[in-house]
Amino acid sequence: MKENRQRDNRRTEAVQRKSTGSEERLTKENTQAKTRCKYSGRCGGCAMIDLPMDEQIKRKQEMVQGCIGAYGPVEPVIRMKNPDRYRNKVTSVFALDNKRRPACGVYRMGTHELIPVQNCLLENKRADAVVRMIFSMLPRYGLKVYDEDSGFGLVRAVQVRSAHCGRNLMVTIVTSSARFPKAQYFVEELTKAFPEIVTVVQNINERSTSMILGEREKVLFGDGYVEDTLLGKRFRISSRSFYQVNPVQTEKLYNIAIDCAGLTGKELVLDAYCGIGTIGICASEKCREVMAVEINGDAVRCAAVNAKLNGADNVSVYEDDAGRFMEKLADDGNAPDVVFMDPPRSGATQQFLDAIIRLMPQKIVYISCNPVTLGENLSVLTQSGYRMKKAVPVDMFPYTGHVETVVLLTRNT
Ligand code: SAH
Repeated sequence: MKENRQRDNRRTEAVQRKSTGSEERLTKENTQAKTRCKYSGRCGGCAMIDLPMDEQIKRKQEMVQGCIGAYGPVEPVIRMKNPDRYRNKVTSVFALDNKRRPACGVYRMGTHELIPVQNCLLENKRADAVVRMIFSMLPRYGLKVYDEDSGFGLVRAVQVRSAHCGRNLMVTIVTSSARFPKAQYFVEELTKAFPEIVTVVQNINERSTSMILGEREKVLFGDGYVEDTLLGKRFRISSRSFYQVNPVQTEKLYNIAIDCAGLTGKELVLDAYCGIGTIGICASEKCREVMAVEINGDAVRCAAVNAKLNGADNVSVYEDDAGRFMEKLADDGNAPDVVFMDPPRSGATQQFLDAIIRLMPQKIVYISCNPVTLGENLSVLTQSGYRMKKAVPVDMFPYTGHVETVVLLTRNT
């Protein structure tokens, strides 16, 4: 999933490339990027941590160019000015390490080997400190980390979301069952130490699965959500909803996407794969009406509240599979003028693409976190009456191998 910690195995290659790189190119910004993370080789979350920023950007440019350059011009990658600790979400797994000692950190990519990452250069410092405190509190409360082999133990993971650049924190404690002895005392101690915690939620995940979060939740403190601001609008975020991990770059991304749409105030806009409704709500003042569709029920509920919070009366939110929803629109002949689409890493489904080709909106603004599936989807769309007018990569995930891209497609006729 898009929101999963980004990792890949390109680090070895990255280090090799660095040693052949030209030293003169090392500016102040680049020198900072030399800071090595001691976990990086094993965790893989920041595959490019040792590469100068210019080189990271160059590779991302080449990656996007390689995947979609055949369809039209690709603009230079939009960089992030101060990229350290940009992530607003920390997810830490609580488990036994390979010596069967309790530990917290991340799984090495593709394995269930726990790497005890306690201070990540990508993550908010206070959020990391909350995770460490929760881990250190467990023995005093008689709480054990969950052992997936025996099914014994309670605490499986902790997720911390920060809003307003770390000034408000939401803590989600994932447990293997609904019980949580002395939860109130636990939460009291935690929130005393971290007054910026606005809510604590217990998420219950009884399944043996690699998904971190389960379906059921209990609010232990506060309202069960955290609120953030993007482009002057307020957004309520629940623990199980998707929210972009780099808010500074997200504002740039959304501005580019909304500019691409060239809205005049008359359009019917579809925000497909809308999450908590951010893109549609940010665009709502510039168009006639927004329909937003999302499959995750929690996110849909947040999106509906967010529309109200921002007085966006022209936004309606639908809980559905985006492909099925598009097909219904096509069957009803209810064609949007502009479609924003922001699918997960796997890209849009064939059903979605078939329906969009039937609907033929004037403009499609495709926001993609995976240039490979973007290229595959563009191949279909450019053979079916669309041309790529513009593509802007945005560095949403500095130090990782990942890159986001906004593409504007317009109808040939
Ligand atoms: N546009 C939002 C969310 C993008 S992430 C933002 O910028 O924050 C992709 C979203 O697509 C997630 O919220 C995910 O729950 C949703 N999603 C995944 N598969 C879907 C599907 N088949 N139909 C509709 N939404 C889907």
